Amino acid sequence: MPVTGPDGPPRPAESGGPPRAAGSGGPPRPAESGGPPRAAGSGGPPRAAESGGMPRPAGSGGPPRTAIVTVDDDPGVSRAVARDLRRRYGETHRIIRAESGGAALDALSQLKLRGDLVAVILADYRMPQMNGIEFLERAMDVYPGARRVLLTAYADTGAAIDAINIIDLDHYLLKPWDPPEEKLYPVVDAMLEAWLASDHRPVPETKVVGHRWSARSSGVREFLARNQVPYRWYSADEPEGRRLLAAAGSDGRALPVVITADGEVLVEPADAELAGKVGLATTPSKDFYDLIVIGGGPAGLGAAVYGASEGLRTVLVERTATGGQAGQSSRIENYLGFPDGVSGAQLTDRARRQAARFGAEVLTARDVVGLEVNGSARGVRFADGSRVDAHTVILATGVSYRQLAAPGVAELTGRGVFYGSTLTEAAACAGQDVFIVGGANSAGQAAVYLSRHARSVTLLVRGPSLEASMSYYLIQQIAGIPSISVRTCTDVVAADGGDHLERLTLRDSVAGTTQTVHAQLLFVFIGAAPLTDWLDGVVARDERGFVLAGPDLSADGHLPAGWWPDRPPYHLETSVPGVFVAGDARAESAKRVASAVGEGAMAVMLVHRYLEKP
Ligand SMILES: Cc1cc2nc3c(=O)[nH]c(=O)nc-3n(C[C@H](O)[C@H](O)[C@H](O)COP(=O)(O)OP(=O)(O)OC[C@H]3O[C@@H](n4cnc5c(N)ncnc54)[C@H](O)[C@@H]3O)c2cc1C
Repeated sequence: MPVTGPDGPPRPAESGGPPRAAGSGGPPRPAESGGPPRAAGSGGPPRAAESGGMPRPAGSGGPPRTAIVTVDDDPGVSRAVARDLRRRYGETHRIIRAESGGAALDALSQLKLRGDLVAVILADYRMPQMNGIEFLERAMDVYPGARRVLLTAYADTGAAIDAINIIDLDHYLLKPWDPPEEKLYPVVDAMLEAWLASDHRPVPETKVVGHRWSARSSGVREFLARNQVPYRWYSADEPEGRRLLAAAGSDGRALPVVITADGEVLVEPADAELAGKVGLATTPSKDFYDLIVIGGGPAGLGAAVYGASEGLRTVLVERTATGGQAGQSSRIENYLGFPDGVSGAQLTDRARRQAARFGAEVLTARDVVGLEVNGSARGVRFADGSRVDAHTVILATGVSYRQLAAPGVAELTGRGVFYGSTLTEAAACAGQDVFIVGGANSAGQAAVYLSRHARSVTLLVRGPSLEASMSYYLIQQIAGIPSISVRTCTDVVAADGGDHLERLTLRDSVAGTTQTVHAQLLFVFIGAAPLTDWLDGVVARDERGFVLAGPDLSADGHLPAGWWPDRPPYHLETSVPGVFVAGDARAESAKRVASAVGEGAMAVMLVHRYLEKP
């Protein structure tokens, strides 16, 4: 289910409580407007929007000044907010106030065109024509990095909490905010601090020119979005897309064409090439580490954070994008410390920055294909034949989606058929009839999320009901959303179409009948399997490919073949001393974010023990 989609992921914040701490905001997410920034209308100053502080004279050419923007349809309240803001921030910031969402958007567009920065946007919730949530959602298109605050009356706190998921709200502020020293300024101070700590400079964006139904175009957008690389998407059919292709010397037959921030042109780039060109690390800086972590999901990121913070020279190797399965979840409800849920993208962003802060190296787009044991060194081989060595390894490779075997599905994958949470497809769902295969929580979460965009969502469930496979709270949520319907005892038996998915053939396993339905989008969530064949013959696994560890290795009373230490394997240690496993890849693991993170941390503790006493 789309998570860090270009239009902004649902990124829960700590509602109503203290605002997010400085530095927790994360880098600007992908800005994908499908074209150049919206023109700001007449070109004159927007009506009902006025600026304060020390406005920069037009054409002064001075450095951009940071603005705080406030919008409230009640002129009295609007003036009062602006007055209070000006009193405290007027010397250092421009205070821009507007009395409608439309006027505020015009003001934002003008600021954008002039290259000015916007740090904080405060919007009243109850406004006619465009309420505060709608306005903030559109404001995110213009200034994705600006911190967002919703002003609400007490009666509207429910809407504010909902907004946390819709627009990635940073804070909601109850009206009235008197005295501002106690209620308004601490919030705005924290927002400014967080904004300053995040990378707010205007980003010279990577441009992707592609086609909606090109599988590799989807792949590139997915890769950039999941790695939180800001980019701008242009359809090859649109004038600006055609202009860019012409400038790049491309006839548009091979898509996508990626134009990096430095102006370099890449045609249908592979992930590894793309990663290198957009500034993601792909090569280890050292030949030898204390710890190599394979896999950048919650378990791997957990291990990297604890390993690096405890002084181990740590490198994490991830084949696609950090976050793993969790990074694709629109909302993780049960992770400790996030009572309102947290999006996988947000959790990943925080974890990755945390790992980097402690000095862990994170390599992206590097597929590990081999593990070698050379005396006390553990070597990891990459797909291109290169390698890196360490004293210890933590396998945190998780699981990957199972493929749907119906005829036509493989050919249409990436062109209407998507596995799991394809981040970039949320916008494409607008007004569409969307189908989701699967009856477990991941399918349910996707249904709830996509129902916000799609005209209808049909959940295709093989079993007779959802009860056996989905959490009660999700079943209740789904029951309360009229645009979601559930078809039980239903299999997808074929998919077909031209350059993209057009039809699905569904079979009712009880009635024995088939039906062909029009469908442009199919999301598949039918379980997952560990992809650990590359460990064959090196590390002991169970019959399904999950890695055995600790007591599970000697379930028959014998230590694993070739085991040489004069001690049994540590709890998360595999059949190879010094090689540990954490998270979903481990046999009998809990398959939860919290347990994966916990196992990552615990594996590091065992790494220390191993280093002291191999
Ligand atoms: C849509 C969805 C929603 C979910 N919601 C929840 C929830 O609400 N609460 C909850 O507790 N759990 C939830 N889960 C489950 C949770 O996400 C997983 O249990 C958790 O992500 C497991 O973490 P992990 O690090 O072990 O593995 P993964 O998250 O699977 O990460 C493994 C990583 O390793 C990488 N990798 C694999 N092989 C290699 C290789 N050879 N070389 C390099 N890299 C490799 C993969 O690309 C991947 O990034 C959800 C899962 C999904 C799919």
